[in-house]
Amino acid sequence: MAASDPLLERRRVASPPPTDPQTRAEALSVAARALRAAEHVCVLSGAGVSAESGIPTFRDALTGLWAKYKPQELATPDAFAAHPIRVWQWYAARRSMVRSAQPNPAHQALVTLASRVAHCTLVTQNVDDLHERAGSRDVISLHGSLMRARCSAGCPGTMVPTEDQAAEPPKCVTCGALMRPDVVWFGEPMPMAQFEAARNAAVACDVFLSVGTSNVVEPAASLPWISATHGATVIVVNPNMDGQRRGPSILPIEGPAGVMLPRLIAEAFAGRRARRHESNAPPIREQAAPASAAAQLPIDPPAPILSSDQPSE
Ligand SMILES: [Zn+2]
Repeated sequence: MAASDPLLERRRVASPPPTDPQTRAEALSVAARALRAAEHVCVLSGAGVSAESGIPTFRDALTGLWAKYKPQELATPDAFAAHPIRVWQWYAARRSMVRSAQPNPAHQALVTLASRVAHCTLVTQNVDDLHERAGSRDVISLHGSLMRARCSAGCPGTMVPTEDQAAEPPKCVTCGALMRPDVVWFGEPMPMAQFEAARNAAVACDVFLSVGTSNVVEPAASLPWISATHGATVIVVNPNMDGQRRGPSILPIEGPAGVMLPRLIAEAFAGRRARRHESNAPPIREQAAPASAAAQLPIDPPAPILSSDQPSE
């Protein structure tokens, strides 16, 4: 009778929750079933996952001493050529923030996930090392790493700058040029090998799990939808669903990654023990077998591609 109670009806209309808890519970349950059945899961993590460890986004870190700079003055090859010390110190400051941060329950849940499915590919847009520190292996970093530096003249090889190297960029041991942060700057392409590996995983996986990203900055934003068009179930975990595409193969789970991911993984794998991974080779997916009955097209039309005035890292 509750459904026809006019008071309840009115309350629902007057103050709708951000996501109907019933809808979210249903999405969680369908998502858990899809994960449990999956042979290959591809995860894409974004800034929201790092933010829950207290790591500010690029823009949010522009405070204090750095508030007077535009992102373009700190994160372009031209900025580094003109002011290498300034740019280096900006990255050293952020590297130091990352060193004092700890992985959160979302990072841990993804380690558990990788131990429960036959193959798990973890792709991240984040430039910190929290996935690795939580225990994830073979992370595909689309935007490079804050924790590494490489030769600005293009010599192969990278280095891990120490805290003692925060004041100015060290010199390349091979050619003497300045070392630069090993991140993708404005106007620079994403590393092709990493993006190809991510794209291949998006095509091959049964379930694509997008966590802590609004999926609007291309080209990473297209990964979940590539997956959906290849028959995968797409699970989107994010505190808000603004700008996210909707569709019958897309399961929105609104909430913080550190809360929703452990819940999802627990529901999916309750009682199932960790698998032994004998091979890192991804399984070949059977022909067009959707992970759930809901995995049907069409999805909504693509969101516009942003010509990035946002930092790519
Ligand atoms: Zn060099």
